[in-house]
Amino acid sequence: MSPIEFYLNLREELLLIVTDVVNSGSWGTYYKPSISNSINKNRLERLLIKYKDLAEPLGIIKVTRHISCSNDNHVEYIVSNEYGLDIESVDNRFEWGFFQEMNKRMCKCPCSDKNISTHHEVLDELIYHKDQNIPCGPILSILEDVERAVLNSKNNKARSGVREHILMALININNQLMPGGMEAYVKHLKTISQNSASTPPVFTAWN
Ligand SMILES: [Zn+2]
Repeated sequence: MSPIEFYLNLREELLLIVTDVVNSGSWGTYYKPSISNSINKNRLERLLIKYKDLAEPLGIIKVTRHISCSNDNHVEYIVSNEYGLDIESVDNRFEWGFFQEMNKRMCKCPCSDKNISTHHEVLDELIYHKDQNIPCGPILSILEDVERAVLNSKNNKARSGVREHILMALININNQLMPGGMEAYVKHLKTISQNSASTPPVFTAWN
């Protein structure tokens, strides 16, 4: 899958979900009752898992940071990954995502070869190698917004937070799909408007 296909498919699925994220007690699109937070959360979680996997061939790497484990000599924040890559806990060869969600689960901490799986605190993170040919920054940022939307879809949370992050992801996707980027397009429109005050600006880049 190319980055463009990634953006097009994810955009389509996010648009379907965002129309269903309406405030509790109100009526959604097509006059149907609002969908519960738990249903939206499940849909977003499935979407996130699917697109994290689809982002892997594009250069996104999933890593796990281990906060603690049962080993007395545990190395704090040591990083593991499932690709067999040698990645340090502070590794400047990679760009690291800003988003970190603390989890607790059964897994093997890499602080010792003798470790067995234990229930301990971890942070799941997304990173990419700085030498990647594909620009992974926007992909990472979009996935982080989807992840924030998942977190905001917990039962006691307002749905406006879910919408906000889905819409941020959609704006970012739109910017990636726009030839030259949205800012360049706006600049182009401003130039045309200034040069021809009476004629509406027409953008013909894809004609
Ligand atoms: Zn450990």
